Amino acid sequence: QANERESLYLVSEFANTYFQKILHKTDQGKSIGLSYFKERGFTEETIKKFDLGYSLNEWQGFTDEALKQGYNIDYLAKTGLTIVKGDKRFDRFKGRVLFPIKSMSGRVLGFGGRILVLDKKAAKYMNSPESDIYHKSKVLYGIYHAKQSIAKEDNCYLVEGYTDVIQFHQTGITNVVASSGTALTPDQIRLINRLTKNITVLFDGDAAGMRASLRGIDLILEQGMNVKVCTFPEGEDPDSFAKQNTLEEVSTYLTENAKDFIQFKASILFEESKNDPIKKADTVRDIVNSISKIPDQIKKEIYIQECARIMDMSESVLFSTLAQIDSKTA
Ligand code: ATP
Ligand code: MN
Ligand code: MN
Ligand code: MN
Repeated sequence: QANERESLYLVSEFANTYFQKILHKTDQGKSIGLSYFKERGFTEETIKKFDLGYSLNEWQGFTDEALKQGYNIDYLAKTGLTIVKGDKRFDRFKGRVLFPIKSMSGRVLGFGGRILVLDKKAAKYMNSPESDIYHKSKVLYGIYHAKQSIAKEDNCYLVEGYTDVIQFHQTGITNVVASSGTALTPDQIRLINRLTKNITVLFDGDAAGMRASLRGIDLILEQGMNVKVCTFPEGEDPDSFAKQNTLEEVSTYLTENAKDFIQFKASILFEESKNDPIKKADTVRDIVNSISKIPDQIKKEIYIQECARIMDMSESVLFSTLAQIDSKTA
């Protein structure tokens, strides 16, 4: 199957070049796609760095060109670039701006496409379907551009979306990747784990972002990694925040607001539970449960002490709770 995978890579690479050409060289690309990116505050340099593109608002502009260039319809269908329905063929990304998703080594695996004007009838983002080269649970958007600085900074910022990654780069923070629409997976964390043991989760300042950060924490701890969480003001995400602030301001915000997971959990859970003993008990159990995921015994002990201090509980009761959880999962 190596041959077939290679063919899927080739057609994806062709599409990547084609969509960039449409963005930069056609009237529709320039007046719709390029101006959209510029309105978002992306510079020409940033747009080129991330190979951003545009797919014409036509049913099969891309597909016709690919076929003309000799690409096989089977591979166009398998990568999802073309949707085949009976004898009809449609461009999947018709009228969308495109974000190519690359592997660690820079090969194009798939695309994310955004509609330009929000509309109840269409998904804001559409992604390539799973294929032999694109497994969304094993990919992190931006990893190719971030890998060196993740290793150098010994920390990785984890954000939700394509534009968060891109805006951070433009601001000057390059150790950043996105899970892009899927809940964070163990395989995605493993990719980061090869480069650093430290993750700072930066999810959107909304309820969905908060839930996603909480879910991700235990998965990161399970791999023996250190996790901090930094939230944004209500309604902001890393993109909108970085767009309005200088590098210095963003860096300061991140340093001042990044909390260790335990402080993060305590602060959001404790707020709602401090006057309610039953809720407080649940909060403590929730935090100890996270601590139980840490493979390192010494770190576990340190975190138990920290939890006892923050929650104003005795260490011994927390250690026995931990022992109970460990015996259940052993
Ligand atoms: P934008 O700033 O372009 O409006 P965003 O990146 O802030 O979008 P969010 O709504 O915060 O988008 O969602 C985070 C990420 O989740 C997106 O970048 C995208 O990868 C994914 N996503 C959002 N909506 C959808 C959708 N309808 N289908 C699939 N993936 C989606
Ligand atoms: Mn969001
Ligand atoms: Mn967002
Ligand atoms: Mn956004």
